[in-house]
Amino acid sequence: MAPVGKTGGVAKYVGNSNSKKFHRPDCQWAQKIASQNRVEFRSREEAVKAGYVPCTCVIGLPDMLLISI
Ligand SMILES: [Zn+2]
Repeated sequence: MAPVGKTGGVAKYVGNSNSKKFHRPDCQWAQKIASQNRVEFRSREEAVKAGYVPCTCVIGLPDMLLISI
């Protein structure tokens, strides 16, 4: 049995422990997270409960709205 939540296809969202934001794994920002700051979540709810704020890639807002948040 493979361990859950470590690596490989389990994570639905990727958080940055430095900025306290979380992203979809395919987000450009998610791919820039340094490995020591990278936190994986299996659900959006799990990330929010951990105190992380969703990136617009999670919410689905246009980039132009990102600026005012
Ligand atoms: Zn993002």
